[in-house]
Amino acid sequence: MTIIDNNLVQTFYKKRKPNTHKGDFGHAFLIVGSPNKMGAALIASKACLRAGVGLLTTNVPKEEKTSVTNFIPEAMLYFRENSIDFTPFNAVGIGPGLEQNEASQKIVYTSLLKVRKNLVLDADALNILAQNPDWFSQLPKQTILTPHPKEFDRLFGTHTSEEARRETAHKKATQWNCIIILKGHQTFITNGIDSYENTTGNSGLAKGGSGDALTGIITAFLAQHYPPIHAAIISVYLHGLAADITLSKQSEESMLISDVIENLGWAFKKIA
Ligand code: AMP
Ligand code: MG
Repeated sequence: MTIIDNNLVQTFYKKRKPNTHKGDFGHAFLIVGSPNKMGAALIASKACLRAGVGLLTTNVPKEEKTSVTNFIPEAMLYFRENSIDFTPFNAVGIGPGLEQNEASQKIVYTSLLKVRKNLVLDADALNILAQNPDWFSQLPKQTILTPHPKEFDRLFGTHTSEEARRETAHKKATQWNCIIILKGHQTFITNGIDSYENTTGNSGLAKGGSGDALTGIITAFLAQHYPPIHAAIISVYLHGLAADITLSKQSEESMLISDVIENLGWAFKKIA
């Protein structure tokens, strides 16, 4: 097991060169939000942009358009339709704020078939996968799954300890050629070959919205052409580090994930 710390992240972090343009940093696509959960869509989108992506397109229900344009003018919009053209995108993140209805099921299944690489599944995208276990064999190689313990148990059966979950995560990552980020205190990451444990983050993250931000950040690093295992590691590390930096002005109780996203810049400065 490898510990995720500043030294490890510095071995592969790519500092921006001066002579670059937005095309160098990829185009991320987030399929997020539903009428009652647009906050998750906004959080994931904001975090994705703060993690350095060149362009972001956010897929939301048409009637929710103004919430995105009002709060995140940097994001482009793609209204939710039955068919999606994935070709412009370098990475796709699905799940924060989605529902588990039939339309979402279709979106998840279509994405498994059409997105060839750089896919992140979170939240209700994971719950939909848990309801359709035969879809595991369709996962694009190195898809990143980001379950918290309850989502993990829905996917892989009930576990009584974190250690047992880690063992299962390792086996399932090997079996399905995917990356599993088992979230929590000391988040565990495995690709079925190597395993990693995170050292950043605090219980200020134990509230709604934290995982949605992580999904946005991972999608941003995938779009920036980081190999999926590196995208997983650096995202988990920076997300936790930004939360630790937030403690200088907030307590674990008062911290909001919006504060954490605003501090991502300070977290980047610590690894630069
Ligand atoms: P979610 O449950 O999907 O909102 O994800 C929660 C996020 O917050 C994950 O990235 C967790 O690793 C992180 N998190 C939750 N609780 C803690 C904790 N006590 N210490 C550190 N990180 C945490
Ligand atoms: Mg979540």
